[in-house]
Amino acid sequence: MRQLPAVNRFLDDPRIATFEGVVGRENIKRSIAQTLEDARHAPLNSGYSFESLCTSVIDRLQAGAFESLVRVVNATGILLHTNLGRAPLAAAALAGVDRIGASYSNVEYDLERGERGSRYGRAVSLLASVTGAQSALVVNNCAAAVLLVLDTFAKGRDVIVARSQLIEIGGGFRLPDVLERTGARLVEAGATNKVYIEDYERALSPHTALLMRAHPSNYAITGFTHEPDPKELVELGRRAGIPVLEDLGSGALTDLAQYGLAHERTVQEAIADGVDLVTFSGDKLLGGPQAGIIAGSATLIARLRANPLLRALRVDKLTLAALTETLRIWAAPERRSELPFYAMLSATIDELRARAGAYAKAIEGAGVIETTSYAGGGSLPQSALPSVGVALRPRAGATAAAAALRKNDRPVIARIEGGQLILDMRTIAPSEDAVAIAALKAL
Ligand SMILES: *Cc1c(COP(=O)(O)O)cnc(C)c1O
Repeated sequence: MRQLPAVNRFLDDPRIATFEGVVGRENIKRSIAQTLEDARHAPLNSGYSFESLCTSVIDRLQAGAFESLVRVVNATGILLHTNLGRAPLAAAALAGVDRIGASYSNVEYDLERGERGSRYGRAVSLLASVTGAQSALVVNNCAAAVLLVLDTFAKGRDVIVARSQLIEIGGGFRLPDVLERTGARLVEAGATNKVYIEDYERALSPHTALLMRAHPSNYAITGFTHEPDPKELVELGRRAGIPVLEDLGSGALTDLAQYGLAHERTVQEAIADGVDLVTFSGDKLLGGPQAGIIAGSATLIARLRANPLLRALRVDKLTLAALTETLRIWAAPERRSELPFYAMLSATIDELRARAGAYAKAIEGAGVIETTSYAGGGSLPQSALPSVGVALRPRAGATAAAAALRKNDRPVIARIEGGQLILDMRTIAPSEDAVAIAALKAL
């Protein structure tokens, strides 16, 4: 036991010392102490060397470093990857966070009158002008937006939803369960594949609070199908005096067909159809921070604002700073490419192929292949976007290689397909190419 190396010997080792800036000296000392403690309890004949102990300290430190939030290179080709943080923010949005986060602000203060003001005012006027809605409200995420609407209008009452739209969008958001939680009663309309306006009409009762549409974010029903036009639903709602809620989820604000994707119903279209309340996320196709946006009728939004639950779902100043700057970009179409999501969508096949070529040249055994990117984030489940990738068949096997890439200083998240390791160029920022190439070379 006395032969165990001294703590200082580890601390002075350059491989370990480099972690000081990442996890701090105290965490390094703790990792060394734990490693030595384990060695003390190991069977006497298990043997240890400084080198093997060093490796185990480094393993611990690496594991610890990745427990904090770190930047990763998204080589999956899925643009809005929920596990990887969905939309990266525009530089202007980050500058807004920087400015507002570093000092006091008028987040809830009326500068003209010198008294408490509205937290939502600035975002609301931008949202109204971008979506065409009378008014709007911002909460923590789209799930919270749906929750607030149901809690406000449908507690103890009925919500009519098409059978084809009873969604579960992952992360525990299941529409029937959310409805139940708010004390609303789900009334299903139609059959799984075919729902007609008459089905909604038949489901109406004096207890009906809302007619609800939900975007089938991550699945598609194809073949022998029918759903009523949203305008028909709005017309039925008007006749019956019942508001229509549409949970759009991804919240497109522009026609995605111009980027080679399928057309996705936009927020503006829903508002123009007369839908009373539209809910969507801030960090999906909007390309902003995590937030839930409710846009629509001013009278209904006023009732949402009066719900005490709003206090628990309220967004912070950093979210508002990033969101308002992102909406300013939307208000100026010529600034669209400032949003990283749209810059990635706009990258041409030639540009992607040129970058993949540089990878292939730098890395032995790597080839350039045609591949497919997806918008992701619960939008356009079936809409594929042609892309270019780099493919390798690592000797150690694709799974082991993918794991090694995840251990890189800046983890690289690749895709495995048919035993090949694939890096999709579309979701890797050109500024990350050097890091990704170095990671592959080390592999
Ligand atoms: C993504 C999505 C949600 C949830 O949005 P979050 O912002 O992640 O809470 C709700 N409804 C639909 C239809 C969605 O696509």
